[in-house]
Amino acid sequence: MPWSELQKARPEWMTVRAPSPNGRFTELRGLIREGGLHTVCEEARCPNIGECWGRGTATFQILGDVCTRACRYCAVTSGRPESAPEPLEPLRVARAVERMGLRHVVVTSVDRDDLPDRGAGHFAATIRAIRRANPGCGVEVLVPDFLGFRDEALRTVLEAAPEVFNHNIETAEHLYRRVRPKGDYRKALDLLDRAKDVWAELHPARPPLMTKSGMIVGMGESDDDVLGVMRDLRAHRVDVVTIGQYLQPTERHLPLDRWVTPEQFRRYRQEGRAMGFGSVFAGPLVRSSYRAEEQRLAAEGGSRAVAH
Ligand code: SF4
Repeated sequence: MPWSELQKARPEWMTVRAPSPNGRFTELRGLIREGGLHTVCEEARCPNIGECWGRGTATFQILGDVCTRACRYCAVTSGRPESAPEPLEPLRVARAVERMGLRHVVVTSVDRDDLPDRGAGHFAATIRAIRRANPGCGVEVLVPDFLGFRDEALRTVLEAAPEVFNHNIETAEHLYRRVRPKGDYRKALDLLDRAKDVWAELHPARPPLMTKSGMIVGMGESDDDVLGVMRDLRAHRVDVVTIGQYLQPTERHLPLDRWVTPEQFRRYRQEGRAMGFGSVFAGPLVRSSYRAEEQRLAAEGGSRAVAH
């Protein structure tokens, strides 16, 4: 189906609240512009921007706005970044978190395969800066795969002790070549698994690291594929999983394959609970960072809460 018709054929459950031009949304936008910051909410054209920004939360994207990968589903600009990491960016993010009064913040980045440490040091500096300016604020990092630098990067990021370590698996293994050509499904699972061990070596007195991953559905996978990925994540000790509907950003991106119904998302939640995840957020508009604090609290409470 042509892209323009597909947009019109959006099912009613994909309807989102339009961003309000007033109130907290505008305040937050001003704060982000003023700080010279990037958010994945804008860069990835997230459908929840009205709701999240209206509630005063956002997901910060560090290390610039140009990604060295070119995943076919992603709206972020890909290419060769022209600048080195900005040394003051961690401080600017920390100040924004302070002004927003956040109790939990998600920090992600573009992929920076051009950097010797793949950006791990900048993640660590950002975690530390947030913590210094915002004692008590939980920090969740949504990291790239650090291909080729797994253990060094894990050590660098985890020494700064984030509360949640997230890496999105995105889709089934057999779709990687088409959807995420520079990624590696098995290595993504290994990164999540190995993070637990590195954490235990670095912080033996602390509780185990909370790990998290996410999937986008509607990119050519079957429901059995989704359950297979969930089983793989559990086998690699992942605690929290998110599953949401793919929205084709433009005509040039990977074509949408299907609209997954709310009923099917409910089945994913049930299956995820049976598999033993600490928290499963699955729904048409769920994104990795959507209501992230709630996801974390549900998993911490050991309630195996299944929300949304
Ligand atoms: S779901 Fe995440 S990326 Fe989307 S608007 Fe909310 S915080 Fe931003």
